[in-house]
Amino acid sequence: MKMDDSCATSDLLTLEQALSQILSELPAIDAYERVPLKHALNRITYKAVHAAIDVPNFRNSSMDGYALRSIDKHSKVLNIIGTSWAGKPFTKPIADNECIRIFTGAYVPDQCDCVVMQENVHRIDETIHLTQWPVEGENIRQVGDDTQKGQLLFAKGRSLQPADIGLLASCGIADVAVFKKLNVGFFSTGDELVPIGSQTKPGQIFDSNRYTLHALLETANITPTDLGVIPDDPIAIESALIAASNACDVIITTGGASVGEADYIVDILKKMGRVHLWQIAIKPGKPLVFGSINETAFFGLPGNPVSVMVTFQQIVQPALQTRAGLQQNQTPITLQAKTAETIKKQPGRTEFQRGFVENINGELVVHSTGNQGSHIISSMSKANCLIVLEQYAANIEKGQHVNIQLLTQSL
Ligand code: AMP
Ligand code: MG
Repeated sequence: MKMDDSCATSDLLTLEQALSQILSELPAIDAYERVPLKHALNRITYKAVHAAIDVPNFRNSSMDGYALRSIDKHSKVLNIIGTSWAGKPFTKPIADNECIRIFTGAYVPDQCDCVVMQENVHRIDETIHLTQWPVEGENIRQVGDDTQKGQLLFAKGRSLQPADIGLLASCGIADVAVFKKLNVGFFSTGDELVPIGSQTKPGQIFDSNRYTLHALLETANITPTDLGVIPDDPIAIESALIAASNACDVIITTGGASVGEADYIVDILKKMGRVHLWQIAIKPGKPLVFGSINETAFFGLPGNPVSVMVTFQQIVQPALQTRAGLQQNQTPITLQAKTAETIKKQPGRTEFQRGFVENINGELVVHSTGNQGSHIISSMSKANCLIVLEQYAANIEKGQHVNIQLLTQSL
């Protein structure tokens, strides 16, 4: 018999409870490597990174114009005696009533303390005529404006993004110590599953979960190790788990994790390692197996394709990122959107329905993507957001506001 889908909600863990238990049991792996900056995108810092220099490390101009000395402020006409180019500084002495032609990013001679924009002067041959003097410091980028020597750039556990890579490069940092990538092995279980590229016989379906998981892991910058389709056979499952636990940091399986007659995962895991079978108050994805075989963490996800995606995004991904070394807050950002139609919901579990959100005249409006069955993977493919319906909420009327989590960056 399958687990009763309508069991008392008081027996269920909330998503937050399940997640905090899982995270508390998953310390970061302790393995790192140094990678050149170009290969550091989406990698997680293994140690704190500090700036070894000031940026900028010399005073430079933020404008094309003329570098001046405020002690000449009484003069309305100054003589141009040289040029400071970006990369070619002017370093000779500057006397009374003299100034320097200067370009953006060029070194500001030590004697100068302000830059006037070229648009604000009248140039006649090698002189400039000023109607208004800049104030001291104007149009000069000071030493350490951006980053100061010794400053903490990133704490341990930061996933490096494009701007972070640029910041490290601006400090001259050529390589960075990052956690080794997590290696996650996964297999599908089910006698009905056929890998793509073969023919289905009556009663068989193509295995889609493995391809979804592969893509989800790649998106999360985790090394995916595809261990194939394993039949509903305890011996085959056991040997696949042994092989996976020897080769991988984490194992994910889909299917066979319930308590039906062909669901062997829980019993095998009990024999081989530690196991929790949890009923979580979410829909889809209520049953979740979490455990370990030696040092290898294990997630047994439900077989239905939408349940796989939702449990991966809500539970497995934050757990994997924590194991991979991430120490940033991973709570998804929630926005509010107006519903374009009535949304059906029974109180009892937090629901993650598939939606498509649009910005209509400055207001976020969300549509359902149709049939919300957990086998309807097309509903996930059409979605650009998850509509998050609170545990005890009932039907939501058209025009009410709901919380959404974006699945993509664009609207
Ligand atoms: P199970 O959790 O094994 O009882 O499977 C629940 C449902 O998900 C069944 O309809 C399975 O056929 C389907 N299913 C299980 N694994 C996969 C998979 N890898 N790809 C697509 N559907 C699957
Ligand atoms: Mg099955």
